[in-house]
Amino acid sequence: MSRLQQKVAYLKGLAEGLGMEKASREGRVLTEIITVLDDITDELKRLQEAQQDLQEYVSVLDESIGELEDDYWGWDDDEDIYDENDDDDEFVELECPQCHGKVYFEEDVLDDDNIGQITCPQCGEVVLDLGDTIDDEEPEITLPTED
Ligand SMILES: [Zn+2]
Repeated sequence: MSRLQQKVAYLKGLAEGLGMEKASREGRVLTEIITVLDDITDELKRLQEAQQDLQEYVSVLDESIGELEDDYWGWDDDEDIYDENDDDDEFVELECPQCHGKVYFEEDVLDDDNIGQITCPQCGEVVLDLGDTIDDEEPEITLPTED
């Protein structure tokens, strides 16, 4: 029983002990007021219980969402594993001219002379020919000759 309920119960007992209800009209009004106070404390208690249930429900819900987030993203909010990796691997996106699918590759590949071609993983079409680009460019550079 809350402090408020105790106070109202005391007031009720006091009024009953004094025989206020039968004593006068004012006594009847006071008795009514005490009854209303009693109802209010009951209602407050009901609301407090409902609030507590809701709080428990929200906390369970929050926990479930946290687990779902972990499953979906594969990492905890506290750990920035993804962000750390993101700095290292810059991905380039290209569209395949054959099937128009998206082809992703690491930006570092462009600087690697050993990799000549980037092919589409879906249809095998050469999306980017690094070897050819180099071969094509070189003969084009013709220095003007002075006589
Ligand atoms: Zn393709």
